[in-house]
Amino acid sequence: MTSPFALPPSTMNAALDESLRALDAAGLKRALRQVHSRRAGTVLLGHERVADFASNDYLGLAAEPRVARAAQAVLQAEGTGAAAARLISGNHPIHETLEHTLARLKGCDFTLLFPSGYMVNVGAIPALAQRGDVIYSDALNHASLIDGCRLAHATVRVFPHNDLDALDRMLTAERAQYRRALIVVEGVFSMDGDLCPLDRLVPIARRHRAWTYVDDAHGTGVLGSTGAGTLEHFGVSGQVDVVVGTLGKALGTVGAYVGGSRELVEYLVSTARSFIFTTGSPPSMAAATLEALRIADVEPWRREAVRDRARRLRRRLAAGGLAIDGPEDSHIVPVLIGEAVPTMVATRELRRRGFLVGGVRPPTVPPGTSRLRISLSAVHPIELVDALAANVLEVVRAS
Ligand SMILES: *Cc1c(COP(=O)(O)O)cnc(C)c1O
Repeated sequence: MTSPFALPPSTMNAALDESLRALDAAGLKRALRQVHSRRAGTVLLGHERVADFASNDYLGLAAEPRVARAAQAVLQAEGTGAAAARLISGNHPIHETLEHTLARLKGCDFTLLFPSGYMVNVGAIPALAQRGDVIYSDALNHASLIDGCRLAHATVRVFPHNDLDALDRMLTAERAQYRRALIVVEGVFSMDGDLCPLDRLVPIARRHRAWTYVDDAHGTGVLGSTGAGTLEHFGVSGQVDVVVGTLGKALGTVGAYVGGSRELVEYLVSTARSFIFTTGSPPSMAAATLEALRIADVEPWRREAVRDRARRLRRRLAAGGLAIDGPEDSHIVPVLIGEAVPTMVATRELRRRGFLVGGVRPPTVPPGTSRLRISLSAVHPIELVDALAANVLEVVRAS
């Protein structure tokens, strides 16, 4: 018997089911899969070992035993959690050791750790650009940068990807209308693997009294003669106002940092909401990252190996008739397919053949530019890279 006061049924599930069907029909429904037991450029996907060309483990440090042992020692001694936000009681000395080490590597005065790169961008950008200010954002910026811009109460202007002449013209026309101007780019663009020419960007920014914000998620640890990243590659270390990097890619751990002047870091400690209102990252992860940085420093072969594999793959794909964007030794190799559905069909076929590659579709990339995203690692055996090239060529030709 239903009471006159019975709750009406929730309408949520039916509504979400309709949305899920629409996503599926457009080839945009996403689903998780289980990946484990990472070894030598391969992973177990369920029960099957596959070649892993989808991860961002560029230096092969994510499953490095020395990194795990460094974490283990601090984990045993200090426990699992920071137990509070860093401003309350969660600031362990090893967090600051890591911040100083990262500052030395990046050639900046100070850095500040965040639990993730996503959180840096949604915290630092709104702290730096407010009402009356303007943000110039590259058209291919990562979702976390786009979200950071959306959260900022500033005017956001998107400039065509890597078109610094267009940016210069926009600044000339508009700069005077705004108080502060922030230019937001990536060092190595995560979807195309191409670089922002920072040596050209910095003088343009300075001329227009604009600040530079470079997210070097994919350059950190890989580019530059010491692995310091894209700033080192272009000889502009110390000249970019804000540099961001993640620890979850080349360094194989988790977390991220923002680096710059003492003033910048002091300001963000007091204003970046995603820093203030979140639990400090586990001290053991800082220990792991310090060990990963040490290994990256004393084993430069890792940086050479990943570039070498990238060159080899790009040459083979090009020889097979595929046009591949980006510099020839970039460790991110995009294979453009076009529409979302055939892109996902191609990734499934490659997976059936034992190769895990990224399938990237909107909203991660603009409609019509869905692609395979292949990322290389220093620990990929050369034969595996050659086998991947052959299989990609067959699968793309058939698609
Ligand atoms: C991966 C990535 C991030 C996010 O970093 P996480 O530490 O994984 O949150 C931010 N920006 C760019 C450009 C990225 O590629």
